[in-house]
Amino acid sequence: MAESKQLPKREEVPIEKTWDLTTIFKTDEDWEKAYDEAAKEVAKLNEFQGTLANGADQLLNVLETIHAAMRKVENLYVYSHLKNDQDTGNNTYQAMNNRAMTLATNAAAATSWFEPELLELPEEKLEKYFEDNKDLELYRHAIQNITANRDHVLSAEMEGLLAEAGDVLDGSQQTFAILNNADIEFPTVTNEDGEEVQLSHGLYGQLLESKKRDVRQEAFEALYEVYGGLKNTFASTFQTNVKKNNYLAKTHKYHSARHRALSNNHIPEEVHDTLIEVVNNNLHLLHRYMELRKKLLNVDELNMYDLYVSMIGESGLKYDYEEATATTFDALNILGPEYKEVLGKAFDSRWIDIVENKGKRSGAYSSGTYDTAPYILLNWHDSLNHLYTLVHELGHSAHSYFTRNNQPYVYGDYSIFLAEIASTTNENLLTDYLLEHATSNEQKAQILNHYLDGFKGTVFRQTQFAEFEHWAHEEAAAGTPLTADYLSEKYGEVNDKYYGPAVENTAGIELEWARIPHFYMNYYVYQYSTGFCAATALADRIINKEENALEDYLTYLKAGSSDFPIEVMKKAGVDMTNKDYIERAMKVFEDRLNQLEEIVEEL
Ligand SMILES: [Zn+2]
Repeated sequence: MAESKQLPKREEVPIEKTWDLTTIFKTDEDWEKAYDEAAKEVAKLNEFQGTLANGADQLLNVLETIHAAMRKVENLYVYSHLKNDQDTGNNTYQAMNNRAMTLATNAAAATSWFEPELLELPEEKLEKYFEDNKDLELYRHAIQNITANRDHVLSAEMEGLLAEAGDVLDGSQQTFAILNNADIEFPTVTNEDGEEVQLSHGLYGQLLESKKRDVRQEAFEALYEVYGGLKNTFASTFQTNVKKNNYLAKTHKYHSARHRALSNNHIPEEVHDTLIEVVNNNLHLLHRYMELRKKLLNVDELNMYDLYVSMIGESGLKYDYEEATATTFDALNILGPEYKEVLGKAFDSRWIDIVENKGKRSGAYSSGTYDTAPYILLNWHDSLNHLYTLVHELGHSAHSYFTRNNQPYVYGDYSIFLAEIASTTNENLLTDYLLEHATSNEQKAQILNHYLDGFKGTVFRQTQFAEFEHWAHEEAAAGTPLTADYLSEKYGEVNDKYYGPAVENTAGIELEWARIPHFYMNYYVYQYSTGFCAATALADRIINKEENALEDYLTYLKAGSSDFPIEVMKKAGVDMTNKDYIERAMKVFEDRLNQLEEIVEEL
């Protein structure tokens, strides 16, 4: 934190280290002009309500008009949000960003009638539209995306009632967020430097990475003592949220909450089942990894607060930004000339906002619209982690770039289910490259540690969440009350099963369910695991130069939302309805675990 005093002001950052937003709007005045135009167009979108039954030409006209307005709103929003993030203390851009968000909300409201009205068109009539106007063909998949769940849409009156009750139905989720972020009070604990500090969610993560074991232990125990004191309230918000999901599934004629959640992206339920099954079959690998961790940390008992500290001493793996750029090009060279060209654009056309400055939003992301460059926000520090971040965000940006250059606007985005695959594939390629070019066993060990911890946190941990989440929904659907003790008993069991005999069943961990915000996101977590496994399989195919591996991968990058996510992945060479891709990822994990086990013998 002391470091923040030396941060440059935004205007002191050399221009070549900033992103070039002038390609969106040359000046703020241009943005203002575009804003006025877009606001007028948005205000007119309501006028089309009730006209979809007028024929094919009208449907096409409405689609094109809505899309044209949306494109403008997106450009306005991206410009203001990037400007705002580069210096959140700048009032001008705060205000512009607020206005852009309001405009986006207005646009969503002005088109909210579209989907229900489209669903009111009888199937035969809609089919005839495609014959009447051949230009509608372009929108066939987009329309199918809406009509595929036709059987699960209720009458307009019933949907209206449910929509109006939305705030009420989301009440438990809101209560959780307020309790967990605002009202919860953590005690002070001792940090690495022996100072008394106020525990918080953010600090907890840092303290668990501390080399000092008593620091980790104190933070862990202090945190769970607080959750223990509030466990009945958390069980109530948890249970009510689960009941809401079950209720909405039932009213929309889905056979389960999972069925409803996965239907949103047209993901078959077997994808979820297969994940849990294969991960369970491979828990012995996580158990072995835990044995190794116990050995390397040299502890009599491996506790739940010993899982986030690096197992390997700090070796000198540091990259400055120039070295990281060069390493990125070398590591991703395997993706061929077309990919390399996109990377070149990213660096040469200033897509990337590199350094930290006063007021800049923390973290890293890739963001943009169909009409803009896929920008990247970084807060660069010379480290292995930041090299991984750079390669990760470039994966998102290259995915966006390929998609937008190969798809029309209507398919120019991609679903969450697919998004993390492009970024994680890059990380896997980087890992492979770094392992091959490591100059010492210490370096290799550090890279393997990074990989194995990433796999543990993404594949094993998120599947553990997915399994628990699904159990809770099934229990509630069967009428079992989800009391705090019942939830904790099950959570402790599942946790024990995942981490295995090398890890103590540390008191407190059975309450972890109480503090996970993702449990309020309705079957979201499994996508982290499936995405990571798919990326591992794709990278493995590319590294092993399997037939068409690279072509298939580029097909995925260029597909956008032109097909259902599962179909896009099939074209990329990964069938996510069967278990092969997860088993392949487990094999990579096992190989790297073997490598680390061998290396540490020699260290
Ligand atoms: Zn990402």
